[in-house]
Amino acid sequence: MAQVSFNRIRRTYGEFTALDDVNLGIESGEFICLLGPSGCGKTTLLRILAGLEQPTAGDILVDGADFGAVPCHRRNIGMVFQSLALFPHLSVGENIAYGLDVRGVAKEQRRARADELTELVGLPGLYDRPVSALSGGQRQRVAIARALAIEPVLFLMDEPFSALDAGLREHLQIEVKKLQRKLGVTTIFVTHDQNEAMSIADRIVILNGGVIEQAGTPTEVYARPRSEFVANFVGTNNVLEVEFTPGADVMWNGISLGRPTGDMASLHGRRKLSIRPEYLQLAPAGTTGTGMVGTVEFVRLLGAQIETELTVSGHTIIDTMISDRPPAFGEGDTAEILINLDHAWVIPS
Ligand code: ATP
Repeated sequence: MAQVSFNRIRRTYGEFTALDDVNLGIESGEFICLLGPSGCGKTTLLRILAGLEQPTAGDILVDGADFGAVPCHRRNIGMVFQSLALFPHLSVGENIAYGLDVRGVAKEQRRARADELTELVGLPGLYDRPVSALSGGQRQRVAIARALAIEPVLFLMDEPFSALDAGLREHLQIEVKKLQRKLGVTTIFVTHDQNEAMSIADRIVILNGGVIEQAGTPTEVYARPRSEFVANFVGTNNVLEVEFTPGADVMWNGISLGRPTGDMASLHGRRKLSIRPEYLQLAPAGTTGTGMVGTVEFVRLLGAQIETELTVSGHTIIDTMISDRPPAFGEGDTAEILINLDHAWVIPS
């Protein structure tokens, strides 16, 4: 278990800035997901922590001590990459015990630890199986076991499940989360998949263009995004540019969205409002008198939910509702859209 501080980390490649003044504290035993679009700097930050890359400026402290001075091979980090990098000519057990072998651990202890790890990751009895004779999911488990065999102070994973099919991926996400909880090892997991991050992280760190946009629990980043980028990147959302006037209705494109209450009642001027699709309601045309009326463009069933895409004055609005709850709308229908302002969030400007 280790506590990590990234202090003012900067990484440039020539004129290009891959990471710009990154400050982040990670608690001992936390499960952090670095989330962001391709090229935002996730892997670079992970590689700097592992010592595979040097920052242009800034430092990293682990348990209060300067990590930059520690050579890569002495950092005691367990890593799993997308490409796994297992040794194809070695067995499951030999792969898992490899790091212990390098560290000069005696044969019997290596065997005992590898047996323990095969059990822990759900591969009991497969010690002697060549890794070439394993399924994709089983190989993933070997890579995880190999990384954990050395009892790392930090466990780093870089898009480890991106090559797997959706079902297996979800299964392994849950397994990794349970394993991490059990071991309590400080973990940093890189992904560009927001669902993956939402389902496994204690805290999500959202990067965009080498800058941290927000770091928070999955609930915080979903319900209270600090920027428009986060509001749109995490989950499906409706971001409306509205006009606030104290004592009057919130207006969007000349349409009233209702009278704000609470903290929202004292706002004035143009602001961006984040309204999640589950907080919209659709009603048949002419039944509620609301001014927000849309044309249904597309309806899709997402298992327990129905997602309806509408256009209102040329803008796209997304609604979701539980799929067994009427009324249902079809493409081309006109629907009234009711907004619950109590569940809307004003994006900080
Ligand atoms: P992905 O999800 O696609 O892996 P990422 O968020 O992990 O993306 P990084 O691999 O950290 O992104 O790269 C961040 C930026 O730095 C990218 O624009 C990348 O092209 C650039 N970059 C990374 N390594 C180098 C390098 N050695 N030389 C020049 N540019 C680099």
